[in-house]
Amino acid sequence: MTYEGVLRKMKTELAETVQYYLIFEQDFLNVNQVLDKRLAINFLNYECTGCGKKKKVFANGVCYNCFMERPEMGEWVIRPELSKAHLDQEHRDLEFEKKVQLQPHVVYLANSSNVKVGVTRKSEIPTRWIDQGAHEAIEVVEVPNRYLAGITEVALKEHLSDKTNWRSMLTNDLKDLDLAAIRDDMRQYLPEEVQDYYLASSTELEIKFPVLNYPAKCKTLNLAKTPFYEGVLKGIKGQYLIFEDGMVFNVRKHEGFNVNLSLQ
Ligand SMILES: [Zn+2]
Repeated sequence: MTYEGVLRKMKTELAETVQYYLIFEQDFLNVNQVLDKRLAINFLNYECTGCGKKKKVFANGVCYNCFMERPEMGEWVIRPELSKAHLDQEHRDLEFEKKVQLQPHVVYLANSSNVKVGVTRKSEIPTRWIDQGAHEAIEVVEVPNRYLAGITEVALKEHLSDKTNWRSMLTNDLKDLDLAAIRDDMRQYLPEEVQDYYLASSTELEIKFPVLNYPAKCKTLNLAKTPFYEGVLKGIKGQYLIFEDGMVFNVRKHEGFNVNLSLQ
């Protein structure tokens, strides 16, 4: 069986074990169904997910022009504390920025190998946690806009990491932590403006990923350098496909890559 199309990050569904879907224009694949099967990935050409042109992907699935110009690629996406829509100030497109920034946001703790702090729109929970490969996560504050979430993250980063150690996440080198206790401990560091939004009784969500075997060591597949790869799929975690030989493939990093996938 073969599938062909431009890669986008996998869609997910929280279930007893997370369900993963690769969505193509004409077709979709429930990736869980192909665990333990041999999968070949062949990189055909680039197709920017912003403008649709066959231009090299620069970052986040888009070409250089789209990255520099599109409103959803603004710096406030990665650095929420730079959000300005609540002040009526435009970065690239005020209407778009208002729609995205002026809605409930959550600051959370997620544990994917080590505990990290992060920000997301409330509507993106638990998707964001699944995408990060967190096996447990908890909400800390829920605030009415992205700016408030951003300044909270900046304050908590003084005490916690804001990065995922993907190598530990993919080899399952992790600890279970009492996230509610860490949340309680972080309360003292919340900025003045967000103290009223603290979620004192939020509970930890546990997430189970479809992984048959974790590799002892892993190496990353980069289709720009290695346009063809074939291996037996042993697991899916975060946005990664994990193969029998320890190769791991970050689907999200390959957004905008037009590929042919074949199953044997
Ligand atoms: Zn483009």
